[in-house]
Amino acid sequence: MHSDCLFCKIIAGEIPSAKLYEDDKVLVFKDIDPQAPVHFLAIPKEHIPSANDITEENSAIVAYLFQVIAKVAAQEGLAENGYRIVNNCGEDGQQTVKHLHFHVLGGRKLAWPPG
Ligand code: AMP
Ligand code: ZN
Repeated sequence: MHSDCLFCKIIAGEIPSAKLYEDDKVLVFKDIDPQAPVHFLAIPKEHIPSANDITEENSAIVAYLFQVIAKVAAQEGLAENGYRIVNNCGEDGQQTVKHLHFHVLGGRKLAWPPG
């Protein structure tokens, strides 16, 4: 628990969130500022600052997060038409919350390439 981290506070229940899935390792909740009809975030409960900080020791959580994303995407009705999984990393990636998270966007045809 990093007391200055927004997503650690959401995990701790200090800040409310619209949860779609939770277990002992991960949390999935709706993005507060959705950029598509369906937009949720999948995060590890362990505080990993960014994709830059994925190591041999902690990388298993990423595979697990992708399993959970597939399950929640299906629950949210995205399986048939597809969706996009996005990770913003660091300054050039425009990462604003320094706790590893994967955006999942769907429910409309998404533009490509991103800006
Ligand atoms: P990023 O810019 O990739 O770091 O993404 C951070 C995301 O967190 C943005 O899409 C925000 O809309 C979202 N966000 C910020 N605060 C909250 C919150 N309290 N609950 C849910 N999502 C949030
Ligand atoms: Zn955190």
